Amino acid sequence: MNNQFLLNNLRCIPDWPIKGVNFRDVTTLFKSAECIRIITDELYDLYKDKGITKIVGIESRGFVMSSAAAIRLGAGIVLCRKPGKLPCETIQMSYAKEYGIDTIEIHKDSITEDDVILLHDDLLATGGTMKAACDLVRKFHPKKVYCNFIIELQSEFPNARDIFDDDIEVTSLL
Ligand code: 5GP
Repeated sequence: MNNQFLLNNLRCIPDWPIKGVNFRDVTTLFKSAECIRIITDELYDLYKDKGITKIVGIESRGFVMSSAAAIRLGAGIVLCRKPGKLPCETIQMSYAKEYGIDTIEIHKDSITEDDVILLHDDLLATGGTMKAACDLVRKFHPKKVYCNFIIELQSEFPNARDIFDDDIEVTSLL
């Protein structure tokens, strides 16, 4: 019932940003206090027993629920950003997109070997972005890495989860 409520509040924009793409617009979830509450509760239930110490939010729609979940879980937040936006020394990871190469980075002093990491983004499509974020986080040798998405486009990208290493637990709410 909660998930149906979220789906009812999710806006889809056909042919955006390019023709043929049906863009899932999560801003309609984020503007609803009830949707924020449901997503936060579901994230809390999924991860309350995992000992999460830091949530890594993927720029930029991944930042929103990372913040809410971090408060409930008693975890810190690490920003995973596009290049040139973080002010201190960073570690980077580049990955292939459909057209060209993308890069993400996080601060070099943001994760330690004692951390249990939850990576969070709004949406899983091919998995390329989250896979790069996982590889980046793994350079810090944290104790354990979990991945979560609000939405997983399973019917459009049925093999997306295969891209992740077997020891990384992946969940999605929708
Ligand atoms: P992937 O790397 O899995 O192919 O694409 C996921 C990334 O692209 C995420 O960071 C996500 O924010 C963005 N993205 C791709 N398609 C959509 C979409 O339909 N809706 C939203 N909200 N984000 C998308």
